[in-house]
Amino acid sequence: MDNSLNFELDNDALSGRLVIDLQALKTNYVKLAGLVGVAEAGAVVKADAYGLGAARIAPALYEAGCRKFFVAHLQEAASLKRYLPKDARLYILNGLLPSGEKFAAANGFVPVLNSLEQIANWAATARALARELPAVLQFDTGMSRLGLSGEEIATLLDDPSLLDGIDMQFVMSHLASADEGGSQQNVDQLAVMKASAQLFPDVSLCFANSGGIFLGGTYHGALVRPGIALYGGIPTDAATTRMQQVVRLDARVIQTRTVPAGTLVGYSGAHLTSRETRLATIAAGYADGLPRSLSDRGAAYFGETRLPIVGRVSMDSITLDVSALPSGTLKLGSLVELIGPHQTLEDIAAAAGTISYEILTSLGHRYHREYV
Ligand SMILES: *Cc1c(COP(=O)(O)O)cnc(C)c1O
Repeated sequence: MDNSLNFELDNDALSGRLVIDLQALKTNYVKLAGLVGVAEAGAVVKADAYGLGAARIAPALYEAGCRKFFVAHLQEAASLKRYLPKDARLYILNGLLPSGEKFAAANGFVPVLNSLEQIANWAATARALARELPAVLQFDTGMSRLGLSGEEIATLLDDPSLLDGIDMQFVMSHLASADEGGSQQNVDQLAVMKASAQLFPDVSLCFANSGGIFLGGTYHGALVRPGIALYGGIPTDAATTRMQQVVRLDARVIQTRTVPAGTLVGYSGAHLTSRETRLATIAAGYADGLPRSLSDRGAAYFGETRLPIVGRVSMDSITLDVSALPSGTLKLGSLVELIGPHQTLEDIAAAAGTISYEILTSLGHRYHREYV
């Protein structure tokens, strides 16, 4: 059987378009690097660079000057390594699982050590290889997620030989409420971080995520780890911190119709039209990262015109009320905006009752992706 594809597939025939603006990404990196002054700005590219494609995002950030890249899992570092020049460093935030150490060491990956057990495993690997291995040491400063407790830090200080063979590059921690500038939790975590870091006076500090950068210089340490702000998310409630939009998402119209008042729309008949309504169905649904929570709440845009979502979001489609547009404006193949100048990433996240992080990382792979 001939199972090859024939003829050329036209992009206009694809369900939607996801445009990722690498120039805006670089501008955001440079802006953040400028904000932290003498501190160095790394970049968090975990979860395939928040869904935007780490293989394209990381090299663009490298071009903008970034040399330190953070992923969550060992396998993410493994897939990303070949896209970055030799002087880039890959850090693994979740640390290593037992038996991952030799692979990480052989590839020059830098694990975050989150527990005494991970420290012991990494030190044993260093002994076995008879060379020093780099690492970052994480403290739990109040999130109870990853990192050493005060008690475990005391254990380390009692027996510094536990760290033999480990070249400690940074001590780090993560803020739980960095998006809320006024939160007391930030102040409390900073105090714990400073006290813990003092116990390791020769090691630099790595503390702030995107939100932390905007909390001010006391939070920066020597290396910051922004993620969402690079990708255009507004990390804090301070409106002055707007970053450039990196993502634009448009979906195509696949059918239009006019229905009378009293017509049910979509699954479960969840929407009942109250008047004659012009409808357009678009080719994107929850399998494309548009949450079901947008049902009867969110909207798309055509130019300046808001087109409310009516009824449930389906797996592969969404129905819009397009009555506000002159008849015939939208037709088969027309594009409507889901994320763009009229509806930012933060806007659609708010409409869905979630955060920009979840929208980005859920975008899925069915859109035609364009990097500009
Ligand atoms: C995801 C993550 C970051 C990046 O956070 P943003 O809020 O996206 O800037 C930084 N540090 C750690 C430990 C993380 O898990």
